[in-house]
Amino acid sequence: MASGSAAEGEAVSGAQLIAESLKAQNIEYMFGIVGIPVTEIAIAAQAVGIKYVGMRNEQAACYAASAVGYLTGRPGVCLVVSGPGFLHALGGMANATMNCWPLIVIGGSCDRNQETMGAFQEFPQAVRTSIYGRPGSCYIDIPGDFVNLQVNKSSVKYVECCLPPPISMSECSALSKAASIIAHSKQPLLIIGKGAAYSHAENNIRKLVDLCGLPFLPTPMAKGVVPDNHPNCVAAARSTALQHADVIILLGARLNWILHFGLPPRFRQDVKVIQIDICAEELGNNVRPAAILLGDINAVTKQGLALQKSLPMNYYTVFHHIRELIPKDCILVSEGANTMDIGRTMLPNYYSCQRLDAGTFGTMGVGLGFAIAAAMVAKDQTPEKRVICIEGDSAFGFSGMEVETICRYNLPILIIVVNNNGIYTGLDADAWKEMLKFGDPATCVPPVSLLPNSHYEEIMSAFGGKGYFVKTPEELQNALKASVSDKQTPSLINVMIDPQSERKKQEFHWLTRSNL
Ligand code: ADP
Ligand code: MG
Repeated sequence: MASGSAAEGEAVSGAQLIAESLKAQNIEYMFGIVGIPVTEIAIAAQAVGIKYVGMRNEQAACYAASAVGYLTGRPGVCLVVSGPGFLHALGGMANATMNCWPLIVIGGSCDRNQETMGAFQEFPQAVRTSIYGRPGSCYIDIPGDFVNLQVNKSSVKYVECCLPPPISMSECSALSKAASIIAHSKQPLLIIGKGAAYSHAENNIRKLVDLCGLPFLPTPMAKGVVPDNHPNCVAAARSTALQHADVIILLGARLNWILHFGLPPRFRQDVKVIQIDICAEELGNNVRPAAILLGDINAVTKQGLALQKSLPMNYYTVFHHIRELIPKDCILVSEGANTMDIGRTMLPNYYSCQRLDAGTFGTMGVGLGFAIAAAMVAKDQTPEKRVICIEGDSAFGFSGMEVETICRYNLPILIIVVNNNGIYTGLDADAWKEMLKFGDPATCVPPVSLLPNSHYEEIMSAFGGKGYFVKTPEELQNALKASVSDKQTPSLINVMIDPQSERKKQEFHWLTRSNL
């Protein structure tokens, strides 16, 4: 602590030094029960601006101090007297250790001999130990006579606040391995634990859930990292979700009794676990993981997001960005197979009569006609509302020439074509070329394929509207921002996605069996 203001020869008590040292470590809260010899410590703590809460039992005080650690990331202090006071605090210390929550317990003990004079050094050490690596509880024992001892301030060696915990990231190869396991999974499940809450990774995790379309299950104290009312939350079907997942992404949770040790019959025998934790010793506990990512959850999930950006987009990524950037009150028109199905879950509607799609008859080709009608009616009744028409590439093909009509009447419709080069799924340009080597396209090209990388946006620019061809999330965001803010001009964003991108497998095959 850099307190150079003390005059030469000024005396300072042990209690004051303890309080000042805690303050220097950014400790803000102290809970406890005072008595000999720690009363002076509580008084001194108040004097330096630490909030002291006197409790009725050391155990409750210790629970309170540990919860402060979880909520703020800096340890709370629990102050107890020697003997029974300390013993009562043990329950709280054990609870903090088990929860991985930072905590410092200070206990008074009998008078010391000379050797323990260096005890103040233990404060930064205790703070570091409680918050670095896996967080947990620390105990500092203060000899009784130390508290009231007066020493010359100039003889005290003040120590600065320890640095915030270093942030560690995962090894890149482990990250790619995890990404590939998730990409090949059929029933992935993200389990979010309180380690994720503690690391404040909520923004990254929310994005990952959306971008990858991941179903998630929070543990009790991780509720709210992603809001409970998110459509991907499977908490209401917890047992089924655990039992059927083929890949589990374990984000700051342990496979202990709360998660049935990760073992059958609550989990599949062949479940692949991707484990992400800050504590190396935790990795591989009970279940041999398929991939291990050692690091801080906030940092690792950020790495995951960066990796996601370099991969071809899938439906979930596209709809995530659309959802973020279109107005809440727009009129949504949608058709296509996966495009319409996934869009229905990913794009919320907030008003009645503002969604038009393939309808009862499952008709493809209705989209542009519906969009033109909606734009005409909106012009007369609700001119502030935008019409946004989200089409699969095959669905767009049924009535793409109506783009000319849209431009002729200058209707500011935004058409988004989610282009996977086909009906249900398509081929990429390379696979297409390979396919042609086998002969006449009429005999060798799969019937679901359409011409790869078709520039549908040029139909829009051909008639004077704005066309965008986008391949990356960033290009998509820019095109969406430009076309949403331009309220005069019709536009078309042609979004290339991974031709093999699909929706999560459905349990009811008879509904989707025609989807090759
Ligand atoms: P839950 O009770 O929610 O299942 P647990 O207490 O079992 O959660 O697990 C929390 C895990 O989070 C612990 O293994 C701990 O090491 C880990 N953890 C704590 N902080 C971080 C962090 N910043 N980054 C990564 N893992 C963390
Ligand atoms: Mg398609």
